[in-house]
Amino acid sequence: MANDKQTALVTGGNRGIGLEVCRQLGEQGMRVVLTARDAKLGEQAARELARDGADVIFESLDVSSEKSVAECAARLKRAGVRVDALINNAAIYAEQSAPAIDVAQLEQHLHANLTGAVRCCAAFVPAMLKAGYGRIVNVSSGSGAFAEGLEGPAPYCITKAALNAFTVKLAQQLRGDVKANAVCPGWVRTRMGGRAAPRSVEKGAETVVWLATLPASGPSGGFFRDKKRIAW
Ligand code: NDP
Repeated sequence: MANDKQTALVTGGNRGIGLEVCRQLGEQGMRVVLTARDAKLGEQAARELARDGADVIFESLDVSSEKSVAECAARLKRAGVRVDALINNAAIYAEQSAPAIDVAQLEQHLHANLTGAVRCCAAFVPAMLKAGYGRIVNVSSGSGAFAEGLEGPAPYCITKAALNAFTVKLAQQLRGDVKANAVCPGWVRTRMGGRAAPRSVEKGAETVVWLATLPASGPSGGFFRDKKRIAW
């Protein structure tokens, strides 16, 4: 795969919002690296997008594993693929079983929802800085917004609030035309959002894709929903 057009890497791309983000970015003419922790599910999703005309490849990537992230980055480097847009979408959400926070559950959420994004940035942002171009989109949630009351199970809310903080700190360290933003996709009908959610995946993916393809004049270090800035 030569690096002649822009490439986006999406974590948790096998289903839900991540899969739809892959589809929409493909439609916009980007080359898509659809990643998933389950190779069978990821390969199948990538095959379906390719059948619809997308320029997509599958890469195995478990964001909770340092080794998995390093191996994925090394394979892409060997293949000459530079990631222009990184969409940190993968996350877990579990209902809190007791009023007290279960430390093991919090740690699991931290690995997937926070450290996963930090690891992926460590793997892919240096090349963006070197090239002077990059778009990083951290898929967060209104559940991680102090301004919205941190509504939801504690491990999920705490880790999304931390992802927001990471977005701000990351953006402060960027230079050139490299931007990092956080996004709340809204309440979306996915396995995580459930069937009662009012939003389609198409709508949920819209602002993620907008942030992944921002022009040089676009914002950095912000938190967005429906393409509008929201309070942290
Ligand atoms: P889903 O539960 O449908 O999909 C989550 C995706 O993340 C799956 O592909 C899952 O893979 C993947 N994933 C989880 N852990 C890991 C890991 N360690 N490594 C790699 N992939 C992993 O969720 P949504 O599509 O609804 O959510 C996408 C994003 O949007 C998340 O960040 C979520 O927090 C956010 N969001 C969603 C809302 C909603 O209403 N749906 C509301 C607000 C925010 P697998 O199939 O293997 O489990």
